[in-house]
Amino acid sequence: MANPRFSAYGRYQLEWIEKGEYPHQGARLDDANNYINAYRALRGTVGYYCDSFYDAIAVPALYVVSTVCDDCAGEGCDECDEGETHAYYSAVRDPHNSDGAIVDFSEAYDDAEDAARDAHNLAERYTEAAREEDAKFQAEQQIEYALASVKDARIEHSALIRERTTLVPESMTKSVALRHCSALRAEVTKLAERVRKLRENFWESVQE
Ligand SMILES: [Zn+2]
Repeated sequence: MANPRFSAYGRYQLEWIEKGEYPHQGARLDDANNYINAYRALRGTVGYYCDSFYDAIAVPALYVVSTVCDDCAGEGCDECDEGETHAYYSAVRDPHNSDGAIVDFSEAYDDAEDAARDAHNLAERYTEAAREEDAKFQAEQQIEYALASVKDARIEHSALIRERTTLVPESMTKSVALRHCSALRAEVTKLAERVRKLRENFWESVQE
């Protein structure tokens, strides 16, 4: 059963495929780098990182559909590969499930190496989008955490101001309490600035 096709990463005929449920009989999924001979730099790139933790890697792949050669009916001729012809589609392995992949069905390549180069391009675009998603998610998390810290600091600050003995330890002298108050205010200012930056640019979340 074929999955619905979709558009993303500048491609218009993408499809998720799952091992054992490929949309073509006898099709196979293979690493793109197995088909790269001429482009050494590309072959040296195993895959592309999907997030700022360098955790998940998207590996360029090829979806290969082989059919019996029309010219020789499978006997073997100059036009085919031992009686078969192959169509190569660029793909990228699912970073979280290497048996699955996204295949771009908009172009069937005759030349495996052309398809492999295109698969690198697809994987790169895919991970750009994934890293953006990741950065947005991290930014949301960090904003939430910072706002909670601001709230805590404000509560502590007003408690100190009001000299609520429940939150001010007995050992804390007045000058220590005042210093602590100003530290809390500085902390709030810093956190508010962080939140402002994150809201302005979510990429801040993954920068050192
Ligand atoms: Zn043939």
